[in-house]
Amino acid sequence: MKDGSMQYRYENFGGIIAGQDPPFLAYVDRDYMRQLGLKGSSLWETADESIGLLSAPTEVHFSITNRCSAGCDHCYMEAGQADDNELDTDTFKKALDVLAEMKVFHVALGGGDALERNDLFEVAAYAREKGIVPNLTISGINLTDDIARQMHGIFGQVNVSVDGLGSHYGIFRGKDLFAHADKALDRLTREGVSTGINCVLGRENFEMLEDLFAYASEKKLNEIEFLGLKPSGRGRHVYMQQRTTDAQNAALTPKLAELSEKYGITAKIDCSFVPMLCYHNPPREVLESMATYGCEAGNVLLGARSDGSISGCSFLPDSGISIFDLPDKYGDPQTFSIFRDWTSKAPQPCCDCDYLDICKGGCHGVAQFVSGSFEMPDPDCPFVVDHLNKDSSDG
Ligand code: SF4
Ligand code: SF4
Repeated sequence: MKDGSMQYRYENFGGIIAGQDPPFLAYVDRDYMRQLGLKGSSLWETADESIGLLSAPTEVHFSITNRCSAGCDHCYMEAGQADDNELDTDTFKKALDVLAEMKVFHVALGGGDALERNDLFEVAAYAREKGIVPNLTISGINLTDDIARQMHGIFGQVNVSVDGLGSHYGIFRGKDLFAHADKALDRLTREGVSTGINCVLGRENFEMLEDLFAYASEKKLNEIEFLGLKPSGRGRHVYMQQRTTDAQNAALTPKLAELSEKYGITAKIDCSFVPMLCYHNPPREVLESMATYGCEAGNVLLGARSDGSISGCSFLPDSGISIFDLPDKYGDPQTFSIFRDWTSKAPQPCCDCDYLDICKGGCHGVAQFVSGSFEMPDPDCPFVVDHLNKDSSDG
């Protein structure tokens, strides 16, 4: 997989290339792969060069432990106690062997609190050795100067969860751990670790976005990644009261663009906010060139729990597949078919949407929670809201 500092794997349309300095991941066609001196594989024997089901995910979100002493109110993993059958170090390494064999590019290690596992560095170093870049998300509670020092060169990116500043930090969490997160960001930047913020966005902290950008700029952070609140785990109990409003969803993209420019901080959004981006009619080529995608559960992205069970993404139910069976099951047409085949049966308004093949109907986890079915469109998409409002005003 390695070619100098660049990594690659073949796909029917050409391949996927990735690098670390600067970090990038790009889908390229067969000609581009040839220009890189890569001669091709049996995947190129087909005339179909469309981008559909990949040969493997590019990224796996791996909860390395479900242990967490913070116990936040909105935790999508319902973290607290360790999972029964949490993988031990050797078995975790074997799981990474499986992902390396499938040529997965990134693992996003998280929890629970990944720092509550004392073999975190051993496992992360093993991922590196296997050509997989480990990234990490932490609350900051257990980060010491010494641990921050060790992170340099191991993790591609370490993000600290910060949903708001000062007393607003605990909007979803139900507790104020801001001082820990603040100290963790200082420790990481001091050690030269590529560092950013993960911010779960809901209706209350939406109004404080500018404060967060100003803070990130002052701390000289790389990025803020905005994650939609998810109705999974304990998040189910707060979702309906705390999710962003329809007006905020419609205003999200211009607001992030304005603040990103003003403060010189990269603003990223997670897959669940892609409908809010599409609503502003961005050129498709730009989205494609930046590998922007909506719901890629079960294809580009997989979730894995600390017992090795796999789901379409971290917010979706257990698929019943173990990570050790993934190489056999991944290509099976039945595997994750409800998500992979969603666009072929998309209802209105998604079936007429110009962005359907990019967005893929928004967050199916949200749709299932709010509407009772994975087959419904995402009710938080502003196009869907407009469509429903039009239907009701048409009487
Ligand atoms: S209408 Fe459907 S496909 Fe289009 S942006 Fe909204 S959720 Fe995505
Ligand atoms: S269901 Fe899809 S859009 Fe929602 S979080 Fe999972 S991958 Fe993202």
